[in-house]
Amino acid sequence: MDTKQLDKHYIMNTYGRYDVALKSGKGCVAFDEDNKRYLDVSSGIGVNCLGYCDDGWVKAVTAQLNTIQHMSNYFYCEQSSKLAGKLCDKTHFTKACFGNSGAEANECAIKIARKYSFDKYGEGRNEIITLKDSFHGRTVTTLSATGQDNFHTYFFPFTEGFKYSEANIDSVKSLVSEKTCAVLMECVQGEGGVNIMDKDFVQALRKLCDEKDLVLIVDEVQTGIGRTGKLFCYENFEIEPDLITCAKGLGGGLPIGLCLCNKKLEDVMQPSTHGSTFGANPVVCAGANYVIDTIANDSFLGEVTKKGEYLRNKLEKLDGVKSVRGLGLMTGIELVKDNAHDIAVKCVENGLLIITAKNLLRMLPPLNISYDEIDEAVEILNKTITEDK
Ligand SMILES: *Cc1c(COP(=O)(O)O)cnc(C)c1O
Repeated sequence: MDTKQLDKHYIMNTYGRYDVALKSGKGCVAFDEDNKRYLDVSSGIGVNCLGYCDDGWVKAVTAQLNTIQHMSNYFYCEQSSKLAGKLCDKTHFTKACFGNSGAEANECAIKIARKYSFDKYGEGRNEIITLKDSFHGRTVTTLSATGQDNFHTYFFPFTEGFKYSEANIDSVKSLVSEKTCAVLMECVQGEGGVNIMDKDFVQALRKLCDEKDLVLIVDEVQTGIGRTGKLFCYENFEIEPDLITCAKGLGGGLPIGLCLCNKKLEDVMQPSTHGSTFGANPVVCAGANYVIDTIANDSFLGEVTKKGEYLRNKLEKLDGVKSVRGLGLMTGIELVKDNAHDIAVKCVENGLLIITAKNLLRMLPPLNISYDEIDEAVEILNKTITEDK
């Protein structure tokens, strides 16, 4: 059996896959098993932030792989301590907690928020407000945190204690009670359709959380690590969250999850309150250190902002495109014919790897994509939309 047949036969059918078996890649270009070339503006859902097999990243990862591949969290680890230090130095955060995925990072954040409240106020103050159209992961608790009804099916009973708000301050206020301990939000909703939060709303939310001693958690799993032209997306909104979660782009292609918290929360978790066997793996952290060393500077991040604007400018001029929205290199495209999924499938046939979010096309290219590659991506998309008429 070939790859596709093996997959269909032996792997649970949890994804509607494109009809492509990817085999290799370099930079923004991937090749399938028949050596067909694809330009990739999806980067494995924002994971391969430096593209496929970036030389420096491969070197950092393989050097670590040849040194020590894993140790339990009962031992100190150079790579994870350095990574935590770098991220805290560049932000107002003071401590980190490692895991392996976005969902796991959000689970950890939910635990930190609830324990902070438990330690200070006692039992019963444990509700978390999240936003409609959010996405926070696939575990039973993070499904529950996700503010979309279609995620709250089949797997009952879900974790209790989540309330879903509209993305405006009055709606949040109407849900706050003496039981509320935290607000969890994305500053730009990714899976929910590249929805950019209103700056006044985010700032009002920060103020509300200060007044009520609610933990403000920003889910930066998709928006973090330079994706929106800042190291973290919340910087665009000029607020400081109490806690953020991070995953996808951080590892540059290897699984990692991370919580970063401020001074107020740094001692909430203590031995035996949380853990993760693979969390803070040295090989993964070596890759993440390389990612941070590469992207966390003004010149790299400034280019992400410029490239995002360049891309959206070009997209807005295409026939068949109704509207374009985004921040940095996170872009959603609404089509006149409202057929994003069909167009995405045809783009892939035409050699452009692109994904969707709700009824939008979504582009999350590698952060080091070139202007020429942006031109090529827009050209393939334009051709695909034109052929579809
Ligand atoms: C992808 C994503 C998650 C889940 O991350 P996993 O690594 O798939 O568990 C959580 N939150 C946001 C905003 C995401 O985009």
